[in-house]
Amino acid sequence: MKNESSPELLWGFGLNSSEAGKIKDSLGPGFFLRNFSERSLPNVKDLKDQEKPAATWIPQRVWSVLPESLRNAYRNFESTQRILIQDENNSVDLEKVLEDGFLAVISTPLTSSKVQDALFRAKEISGLYSDLYRMTEEIIMERELLGRKTEQLMFLNTVLSNATQRLEVADILGQAEEDLKMLLPVLSVQGAFWSTIESGGAVEAELFLTPGLMPEIQNEWTDFMIANVAALSGMSVSGYNISETAGLVENRMAYSPTSGRVLALPLVARGDKFGCLVMLCERSVRLAKDQVSTLNAAVNHLSLALNNALMFTKIRTRADRDGLTRVFNRRSFDERLVEEFKRHQRLNTDLSLLMVDLDHFKNINDTYGHMAGDMVLEKVARLFESTLRSTDFIARYGGEEFVILLPHTTEDNAAMLAERIRVKIEESTMAYQDKSFTVTASIGVASIRPGCFERNNEIVCNADEALYKAKSTGRNRVVVASGRPKLRVM
Ligand code: GH3
Ligand code: MG
Ligand code: MG
Repeated sequence: MKNESSPELLWGFGLNSSEAGKIKDSLGPGFFLRNFSERSLPNVKDLKDQEKPAATWIPQRVWSVLPESLRNAYRNFESTQRILIQDENNSVDLEKVLEDGFLAVISTPLTSSKVQDALFRAKEISGLYSDLYRMTEEIIMERELLGRKTEQLMFLNTVLSNATQRLEVADILGQAEEDLKMLLPVLSVQGAFWSTIESGGAVEAELFLTPGLMPEIQNEWTDFMIANVAALSGMSVSGYNISETAGLVENRMAYSPTSGRVLALPLVARGDKFGCLVMLCERSVRLAKDQVSTLNAAVNHLSLALNNALMFTKIRTRADRDGLTRVFNRRSFDERLVEEFKRHQRLNTDLSLLMVDLDHFKNINDTYGHMAGDMVLEKVARLFESTLRSTDFIARYGGEEFVILLPHTTEDNAAMLAERIRVKIEESTMAYQDKSFTVTASIGVASIRPGCFERNNEIVCNADEALYKAKSTGRNRVVVASGRPKLRVM
């Protein structure tokens, strides 16, 4: 820092002793004049490095013989004001003087008032210059700041509007992956959500992972996410389910948790932590302070959108599914049947239906209790799921009766499948508390062949009739509506 009492620096370029003496005398001890000899004037580097003088005094005779390159360097050297000392017997071309950027011209002989006046003006101009310089710098900084703020707002706006336009968790995460790339070098975005299980004390997790991950990488992510869920929820994870985020598969399936830097941010809605957003970024990622706050704001937006999406899924599941067995309910079946029937007519494909009714189910309730009956219904539903394809549609039709729609399936194949299911049920041991028992089921099979035109509930009536026949002919059997002999599967 400059000492308040130290004299201010002035430069002279090749001043003779009378000029230098006059300047010193006129200005007093508050100034120090450094007079360079004509042969060792400061070069371009000196201009940059050395302490900047308040003013530089240059006689016309020295200026006029300077090499053009040096003259140009002085013209561009804006940190000091230059004062030209006119030669005694020479005139000055004022236009030239202004072009050369001199602040003032003073004539010889020098007098105290001329020297003081020129310096006063030099200092005033320097002050104005530095004010202007500072103001310009402030304006540039403000503009940069404003630019960044605008970018951040635009980013947040994109995240918010994209997230609120989507109702599926997988879609929101897929879009967030795209949007967050505007802020960070993001490689993938995944999510984990949890809900407390009914008995309490533990949570069930729903993981949304990048689609198409290689099995060993998916395992790494699963372990990583489960560990995060346990840490953030503060509870043990009793079970989990894996879904995929939406978006392009590209080369992301090769990214494991160790391929970059992972940021795991808790998702909070209405004061409750319900999940975490896991971003895999390039290893070199560094976040500036304002980027951290923008990221937090973006994650807050995403939290709300994801929470809504989860609630939407829950409500939809509640509306579409049977509460006890979690397979579809009768309302969903009625809708699906109409859809499948239309598809059958349009595409001329086979469509089959199984109607499954547990035998003497009332006895199970009566013998082992209603809870045991419920457990059997759940177990049978899981058994269907493990036997059927994902395109098959399982619904609880009512009580202990299930319907299974089999698109693109011929009657023969449906009958074989029905038999396989019947055997599986028969062979399953049901255990409730300390008792174990078995159940059987009767199954009615009906189909529509390609090109057949019937009403969509005809297939249901036919399956129902076949089921009735199975019951009346001894139960624990499969009956096909067309009356063809049933096929046994060994
Ligand atoms: P069948 O072989 O003729 O089908 O005899 P069934 O006893 O299975 O048939 P029935 O229609 O006489 O009785 C069905 C029983 O299923 C009566 C009802 O209490 C029981 N049931 C229906 N829904 C549920 C349920 O959600 N939980 C339990 N535990 N029982 C149910
Ligand atoms: Mg029954
Ligand atoms: Mg029944």
